Amino acid sequence: MENYKKIINDIYLEIKNIDDIGKVARYIPELATVSPDNFGVYITTIQKDSFGVGDCDKKFSIQSISKVLSLTLAYRFEGIKLWDRVDVEPSGNPFNSLLQLEADLGKPRNPFINSGAIVVCDVLVSHLKNPKKDFLDFCREIANNPTLNYNEKVAESEKITGYRNIALCNFIKSFGNIKNNVEDVLDFYFHICSLEMSCKELSEIALFLANDNFTTHKGNKVLTNSQAKRVNAILLTCGFYDESGEFAFRVGLPGKSGVGGGILAIHPDKYCIVVWSPKLNLKGNSYKGMLFLEKFTTKTTSSIF
Ligand code: GLU
Repeated sequence: MENYKKIINDIYLEIKNIDDIGKVARYIPELATVSPDNFGVYITTIQKDSFGVGDCDKKFSIQSISKVLSLTLAYRFEGIKLWDRVDVEPSGNPFNSLLQLEADLGKPRNPFINSGAIVVCDVLVSHLKNPKKDFLDFCREIANNPTLNYNEKVAESEKITGYRNIALCNFIKSFGNIKNNVEDVLDFYFHICSLEMSCKELSEIALFLANDNFTTHKGNKVLTNSQAKRVNAILLTCGFYDESGEFAFRVGLPGKSGVGGGILAIHPDKYCIVVWSPKLNLKGNSYKGMLFLEKFTTKTTSSIF
């Protein structure tokens, strides 16, 4: 950990004030109110050693990073049947694209683009009695953190401007791959995207993907080791929209980004690291976040390759 600490501090200082060419997401108006200068990093190892710098304790909108948690819960319910509803192939298209769905007859390419996550939400709406409450309880249990919550303002802001997601959900329903009421599925989707966590909290909630022996404080295993391996594989190949190849190439870890500017990266058997910086590159990934992680895995020689 001492080695990680020094390297994290050094990279943080090196890139804190660089000319960041990214732009804060504006298509969800509430996200545009966040200060672009926020910059935080937090690492938690599987031995529970931890270290953070900058704005690592400030909560931010985790947006698409919540798709890791919704996939996890749906996978627990459905097992391999889940892959009949959503595929595990990189899409090579933007996160909110409708293009491939028509040719693929309403089966999204993977669970980490919006179309796939909306189908996963539909699966959860079918299984959960009170989807928003039950999903939050699930997150709170894995994180051992009863304070986790949605941001209602962000959920509402996304609902008002959610034209593409509304179109995606209706389009998929026309192929029969959404079973519930479109409004219910979207309301749930907008809420899970509005989950707020700090870098510290996010690095802790993902430990079940890094540590084969992880159990929650209630003694529950979250996924089998084989399922966790598969979720990590989808993260590596599909976690960064149409920049997933670039992230694997530059950073070399499974991970997931969100348009709130967060990036979660997982080193199986070692650690979870989270970087938050709201300015996004053209593909919707945090500009500084990617740069930080590229330097981190290079200097620590700790990618999976
Ligand atoms: N809530 C966002 C949307 O549906 C999530 C996008 C993201 O973070 O990739 O547009």
